[in-house]
Amino acid sequence: MAPELTFTTLEEIDEIYSTLNKTFRSGKTKPIAFRKVQILQLGYLLQDNIERFREALAIDLGRPPLEASFLELDSTISDCKIAYDRVDKWARTEKAPFNIKFAAFRPAIRKEPKGVVLSISPFNYPIWLALGPIIGAIAAGNCVVLKPSELCPAISGLIAELIPKYLDNDVVRVVLGAVPETSKLMEYQWGHVLYTGSGRVAKLIGVAAAKTLSPISLELGGKSPVVIDPKCDFKIAARRILWGKCANAGQTCVAPDYVLVPHSSEDAFVKALKDAHDEFYPSGATTTPDISRIINPAHFHRLKKLLDSTSGTIAFGGQTDESQKFIAPTVVKGVKDEDSLMSEELFGPILPIMPVDDVDAAIAYINAHDHPLALYCFSPDAAFKNKVFDNTQSGSAIANDVMIHCATDGLPFGGIGPSGSGYHTRTFSFDMFTHLRATLDSPGWIDNIIGGRFPPYSPGKLASL
Ligand code: NAD
Repeated sequence: MAPELTFTTLEEIDEIYSTLNKTFRSGKTKPIAFRKVQILQLGYLLQDNIERFREALAIDLGRPPLEASFLELDSTISDCKIAYDRVDKWARTEKAPFNIKFAAFRPAIRKEPKGVVLSISPFNYPIWLALGPIIGAIAAGNCVVLKPSELCPAISGLIAELIPKYLDNDVVRVVLGAVPETSKLMEYQWGHVLYTGSGRVAKLIGVAAAKTLSPISLELGGKSPVVIDPKCDFKIAARRILWGKCANAGQTCVAPDYVLVPHSSEDAFVKALKDAHDEFYPSGATTTPDISRIINPAHFHRLKKLLDSTSGTIAFGGQTDESQKFIAPTVVKGVKDEDSLMSEELFGPILPIMPVDDVDAAIAYINAHDHPLALYCFSPDAAFKNKVFDNTQSGSAIANDVMIHCATDGLPFGGIGPSGSGYHTRTFSFDMFTHLRATLDSPGWIDNIIGGRFPPYSPGKLASL
């Protein structure tokens, strides 16, 4: 049973903002050793309470334990380790490239915290997307306010309970709440705001941030397409795509949203998806414990309505159970552009298959819509993949797999245009919350060389410059 969340009061929010600003000004968060202790503590917070996190994910999302670990607990703990090991290097002042004209100034870039930062996170990966970015914010030396999603009360309540026990309460605070609390938070000026969620709400957050000139990064979603080359291995492609669509019941910002496949290969590809489905759920999808639930009745009904009004043909799946907020993995074939399933990001275990004439038609379709967060292409052929990636724009361009790029060390995670702006995960989270402060130290003798800059200006000085 999900607990009832006690929301942070508006007066408490005032107190949190002022406490954290006071802490930041005190310089407490600046030493790297302090940051490392906090990062380590965040790792322990997860590790010590891993069973409680798994239970909370099961309560909020019906998340199977394996998905709880594989999809977010493991990667969040790993992100703590990476930040702990690398923060000294990330935070080191960087010398500017040598240039004889400026070398005497000893130009350098100081990596400085932005101040008190805010992270607003969504429901679907309520651990990784709540705690992951704040690892970077702490590593960069900031004070942090985290506003987790009210739609996952078990996880958000657990985070709010544990953060004060493990982290410095004057440095990291959790605000629990929904629209009024988030709106109140957005009245303040922040060193940086990271908003992860839907494009609809992002527009409101963006307007609010503009009023205080708070810098902002937006991690949004959208419809991430899959382009199928008929020459690819259908068995491998179908397994990976179906896994991406069913993990967390499709409630993943980078889930493959729909598939573009040549007309002549549609049936063969749908058959491969059905084979993968039967292999994943041998006793049937309606009884398996391996499928998460839809987060709430509103999202369940949204998805059911989209499915009920499709003009495509349900190839398999289609079963729903309102009492369980359950939607079976469903593949719909023969879907056209004007179909209900193509009207918005699905965020559920429904996979529309849209037949197209060829790869050019697939590219044209993608380019006629918002730049997606991820673009997937299954092909053994470099020319095919390059054609798709070179002629489109998207947050990421992934060949022959889905979703795993988010956890791949060294890669930035972010959208483009309507799917977001800014990058996070590991070093990119550190960078997001870091101010690159230009610095130099000019020696007195340099005026013998560039003293011509001082008035009175004369034609002779101009010639000497
Ligand atoms: P959401 O936009 O409804 O909510 C996200 C956060 O905003 C929550 O903390 C919520 O309390 C707050 N919020 C909601 N309405 C608000 C309002 N009117 N004013 C102020 N704050 C408000 O998103 P969601 O449903 O939790 O998450 C799903 C969306 O997030 C999908 O579109 C998905 O693609 C996207 N997403 C993106 C990423 C990414 O990294 N790019 C990751 C996960 C999810």
